[in-house]
Amino acid sequence: MAMRVSFYGHVRQYENLKSEIDKNIQEVLMSGQYVMGPMLARFEKELAAYFGSKHAIGLGNGTDAIWLALMAMGIGPGDEVITHPNTFFATAEAGWIAGCKVVFVDCDPKTKNIDPAKIEAAITKKTKAIIPVHLYGQCADMPAISKIAKKHNLAVVEDNAQAIDARGDTFKQGELSDAVTTSFIIQKNLGCYGDGGALFTCRDDINETVRKLRNHGSNKRDHHSLGTNSRLDDIQAGVLSAKLKHISAWSDQRIQWAKRYAAGLKDVKAIDLPYSKPGYRHVFHVYSVETKDAAKRDAMIKFLVENGVDAKTHYSIPIHKQQGYPWGKEAQIVGSVANAEKSAASCVSLPMFPEITAAEVDYVIEKVLAWDKANR
Ligand SMILES: *Cc1c(COP(=O)(O)O)cnc(C)c1O
Repeated sequence: MAMRVSFYGHVRQYENLKSEIDKNIQEVLMSGQYVMGPMLARFEKELAAYFGSKHAIGLGNGTDAIWLALMAMGIGPGDEVITHPNTFFATAEAGWIAGCKVVFVDCDPKTKNIDPAKIEAAITKKTKAIIPVHLYGQCADMPAISKIAKKHNLAVVEDNAQAIDARGDTFKQGELSDAVTTSFIIQKNLGCYGDGGALFTCRDDINETVRKLRNHGSNKRDHHSLGTNSRLDDIQAGVLSAKLKHISAWSDQRIQWAKRYAAGLKDVKAIDLPYSKPGYRHVFHVYSVETKDAAKRDAMIKFLVENGVDAKTHYSIPIHKQQGYPWGKEAQIVGSVANAEKSAASCVSLPMFPEITAAEVDYVIEKVLAWDKANR
């Protein structure tokens, strides 16, 4: 039987939580305080408590969270930051907005996260920070990254826009870094109904500075420095407060769907399945498979879409091949980035969201198996 399986379940999620979300929105509307009001303060407390961070600061979006973290540590023009090119453009863009040179190294071929073994070759006297991304919902190798950072006296900013609620058995996000940044845009695992982001930190100095920076460099009346306008508004904080209690259960559901995909697809020959590192809670922001033959990737997506499965790519163009990549002084690639390029050329994201049904996952599996059989 033909079906349509969409990539996201935003409306299903809203329908499930409608009364909790509507109640919080009403409360904000009736409070008369919509920016830096009591709902934001309440949500920030809940967020910090939930993830065991000393501080959580609501911001305008996940991109601002990264550059404000850098700015709060005095990292800017003349400085270099290291990340990898197979991530969303914003990871690097935030470095450029902060005025830094962004240096790219390759990803690990299995996890697709930054390969710690490639980082040291990219460190110069100007290097100030490493920005690992917890891509697709799995933490980067934070123990290895923090060891390198300590040795070279570098800051670490974890871009966890895709991995809220992910962790390693031996570490939590924020324990091995200076700051953790996230995004609450709807397609993320914890999403609001507009733009939003947050920064988590255990450092009091970063907390104080970012709280000023998000509000025009101001603490009450006096503007201490230049800043920006980047505040999570209270309506979004209310939406997120209602959703926060469910995030662990949603992550568990994503993990169950990933297991169902893995079991159903275990005999495929033309496709590689995502890799979960032992000892890591991979929360599957994206269920990204790769065609063994990169030349067949677009055809696989076409086949799935024609058969009712909304498949996408994350991300088909690595940052250094984007039109907006600032060739020249502001960017540099150190070593080969062949793993990142291969992944970009062959990745296919299958529908993955907590509210997907078993019948939908099974339908996707059936179509992927059909494509695999025809392309062995
Ligand atoms: C979504 C995302 C961001 C940016 O978040 P916005 O809220 O859209 O600014 C940054 N980094 C990664 C890895 C992302 O997936």
